[in-house]
Amino acid sequence: MGCTAADVARAVRAVAEVVAEHRVELIQLDRAIGDGDHGENLDRGFRAVVAKLEESTPDTPAAVLKLVATTLISKVGGAAGPLYGTAFLRASTALGDAAELGVTEVTEALKAALGGVVARGKAELGDKTMVDALDPAVRAAEKEQGSVVALLSAAADAAATGAESTVPLVARKGRASYLGERSAGHLDPGARSTTLLLRSFADSAADA
Ligand code: ADP
Ligand code: MG
Repeated sequence: MGCTAADVARAVRAVAEVVAEHRVELIQLDRAIGDGDHGENLDRGFRAVVAKLEESTPDTPAAVLKLVATTLISKVGGAAGPLYGTAFLRASTALGDAAELGVTEVTEALKAALGGVVARGKAELGDKTMVDALDPAVRAAEKEQGSVVALLSAAADAAATGAESTVPLVARKGRASYLGERSAGHLDPGARSTTLLLRSFADSAADA
């Protein structure tokens, strides 16, 4: 992400490829502590996003993220659709009409995305959700302000560590919480997908 609207659109298409590659993995993670639809849901959503981007490329980074948000909200069921939809929508709003994204904009977008997920899902750190990946990612991004690539790489690294930290936890939010103690010993699928998204954005930024 260099990061114009075209760069952001390219990064979103790369995310769609990563989600497709990890579809089965996400399904299996969700099958262990949920209903097994997480990989299917996200893959369907991002395929729809790619189809919309083929019709037209929005002219600002914010407009690209808004397209992602509205598509995910309309196409992805379950908890993750509205949560990721809200995250992308808040990120879009945070960017305003900026034509290019730098360190400040990307950091603000990440903070807004986390704020959206927390506002919508009310999960706290340690509840075994995507917040356990996204919250440390935002903290790491705020500390690593050298470049967009550096901040996104730090965010992805912190998300990966945060996602791993969900393994021993007992879920307190979402479908996995219905399992009680039996949810312990499994990686949270949403924390894993959040890590995949952030890593993909970091990789796209590095390639720009
Ligand atoms: P569903 O649980 O409705 O089938 P998905 O399988 O698509 O939805 O997504 C499950 C993921 O959503 C979980 O792994 C978790 O990370 C995330 N999640 C569920 N509830 C919440 C919440 N209240 N706040 C944040 N994330 C949540
Ligand atoms: Mg599910």
